[in-house]
Amino acid sequence: MNKKVFAGVLTAVMAVSSSFMSYADSVGVAPGQNSPEEITAISGVVTAGGTDSQGGAVTAGEGSNQGSTVTAGEASSPSAAVTAGGNASSGGTVTVGGSQNAGPMASQTSSGVVGAGLAGSSMGSGGPGVSGISQVSRGVDGFAGTVQNPIVTVTGTYTYDQMSQDIQELSSRYSGKMQVNTIGTTHDGRSLYEIIVGNPSAEKHVLIHAGIHAREYMTPLLVMKQMEYGLYFYNSGSFEGRSLSDMFNQVAVHFVPMVNPDGISISQKGINGIRSGALQESVRQCYNNDVSSGRTSMAFERYLQYWKANGRGVDLNQNFPANWEQVTSASFPSYATYKGQGPVSEPESQALYNLMDSRSWSAAISYHSMGNIIYWDYTGNTVYDQSLDLANAISARTGYRLAGSSGHGGFKDWLQIKEGPVPSLTLEVGSVSCPMPVTEFTDVWNRNKDVWAALMKWAMEH
Ligand SMILES: [Zn+2]
Repeated sequence: MNKKVFAGVLTAVMAVSSSFMSYADSVGVAPGQNSPEEITAISGVVTAGGTDSQGGAVTAGEGSNQGSTVTAGEASSPSAAVTAGGNASSGGTVTVGGSQNAGPMASQTSSGVVGAGLAGSSMGSGGPGVSGISQVSRGVDGFAGTVQNPIVTVTGTYTYDQMSQDIQELSSRYSGKMQVNTIGTTHDGRSLYEIIVGNPSAEKHVLIHAGIHAREYMTPLLVMKQMEYGLYFYNSGSFEGRSLSDMFNQVAVHFVPMVNPDGISISQKGINGIRSGALQESVRQCYNNDVSSGRTSMAFERYLQYWKANGRGVDLNQNFPANWEQVTSASFPSYATYKGQGPVSEPESQALYNLMDSRSWSAAISYHSMGNIIYWDYTGNTVYDQSLDLANAISARTGYRLAGSSGHGGFKDWLQIKEGPVPSLTLEVGSVSCPMPVTEFTDVWNRNKDVWAALMKWAMEH
């Protein structure tokens, strides 16, 4: 609601962030679980997930001052991950095709299954196989190429300011193919962007959002690259035998690439990622409360790297009206798992809520990390069959396995039970805990680069 057409005013917020090193390398990234139900405390014994999975116990070696044990619902070792992907609905050749960015690092997570072969498709592109989880080829996909002179470039800390600049440059380069709207403003004054790629008056509409959880900031980079990929191949590309331009005429793809820029700025830059003095004070109060209650024993700066909430300590994916009263929540604002004072109490969740209520939707995907898993169901899901069918379609492309979810208050949860329900999925990308090092990106990209096209195709067929 109250959308304003993008007016090219983003340059004003181009704050310099170059003094911040990519700390991904310095953080001893711990294997662990980071599902929507995610870790509820930093210190102490943590039982996460509660999903159906391998249940491999993982020691979250976290380094510093904690010796917590994480019982993860998702085994994090590559060899275990190889056994996943059993939900792909189509049989056939196990492969990875079209991996334009598959570089030397591509094989780092592989163990056992390496999909180096191409399906017999003439459209498939080569490149080293990327594996870890099997991917089932579904035949021809039209994305054999690489974006030349890309605007969105891969970095370990893809910031809000960089994203804003990229959106501006994309809208200049691809004018007529995309529309930028502002759908809200955060507590710290950042605009929330929605980008519509394709025909805004199309018969069908799908949503992809990312970055609702702060430390999962690789997902906005993924979605921005997806968007650029679609724009670049808008006129020339095809997907499974259909021309992309025809698909974009029939289905509009709405991207909300970064739902939580305040939180992401905290996770990437520390306390100076927040501009408001009052908000900075509330972040410090979160830390003091988390320390005094035993929820963390980390030093302040390190604690902030693991920030998951929005700028005032509300976990946005526990803030939706899906049995919100039953959400297992911290009792005060915190870096993670505080559900807020009421459903949709935050401007970021309001923005998504209003967007989804503004029209009918064919499908929606929420990007989170990590786990290489698709959560597709929720108690009381009134679009059960469609959500399962969509999950199978996306699993076939990504190789991610399916699981139900057990939390409450999530965006997807709400979509599946609200009036005018929307078939929807939560995709958890990546295989190490957040913030993920940039070395994870190659595999994440290769599994997800076509997901928006698969989503469009699914919408056309349903
Ligand atoms: Zn998340």
